[in-house]
Amino acid sequence: MKEKNFILIEMIFLVFLVPFMMQVNAYAYDESVTTNKNPEKELIPQKVYGDVSENSTHKKVVYLTFDDGPSKNNTPEILDILNKNNVKASFFLIGKKAELNKDIVKNLYSSGMCIFSHSYSHEYEKIYKSKEAYIEDFSACNSVISNITGEKSYDFVRLPGGSYNKVSKDMVMNDIRQYLKSNNVKYIDWNVSSADATPYKVSSDTIRDNVISQCKYWDVSVVLMHDSEGKRSTVEALPEIIKYLKEDGYTFKTFKDTDSEEINRMIKYKILNR
Ligand SMILES: [Zn+2]
Repeated sequence: MKEKNFILIEMIFLVFLVPFMMQVNAYAYDESVTTNKNPEKELIPQKVYGDVSENSTHKKVVYLTFDDGPSKNNTPEILDILNKNNVKASFFLIGKKAELNKDIVKNLYSSGMCIFSHSYSHEYEKIYKSKEAYIEDFSACNSVISNITGEKSYDFVRLPGGSYNKVSKDMVMNDIRQYLKSNNVKYIDWNVSSADATPYKVSSDTIRDNVISQCKYWDVSVVLMHDSEGKRSTVEALPEIIKYLKEDGYTFKTFKDTDSEEINRMIKYKILNR
């Protein structure tokens, strides 16, 4: 009898409380890891949930994204892993780093990777001072990328710290978002965080587990990772992440080959143009 009661209580918990907790925790941002000083630190969603894939009629799609590169050490290795696995990913580059690593950017481009701006300077104080300051930085980054790749495509962008970061003034962020929308530039956040941006060192096992455990809750996953200099664990975790997602039936896509149906789902899930 006791056992039956326990099962009943457990069922009530699962049916009513878990979905409620998921809603409450969705997109809870951790400001403790955010600072204006360190460009490697991003605002990251602590817990993210959405339409669970079992209930979905859509095929499972994953967008692997890498911010803050290119770096001399990690970006070529990441590219090598992606190429070996025949997987395409999206890279949101920092313009001033791209200028110093033109060959790496060319290799990303010629391998069919998707390349967009993540700002020229990645300095929050500068770019989020005003809408005008942001536009100047955004244009500078786009120029650097198009000068290297020869392609002028500015359809997507990832804002440093995400589109609702708490570092900049709400008014400025609102102006920036409106500017991007009115210029048909889609700003893309994420719903799966590898948490590799945390100030302390994260093990490759943790990064792998973070990605795998969060992807399960979505039929479209946009995974936030970093290919900057210090992110060795991300490089180490990547082969296992790809292996798991392949075996679990995910299709890998980039923002170059996305479609309107998936874009609409990303808008609905508040991953895009939030
Ligand atoms: Zn960044």
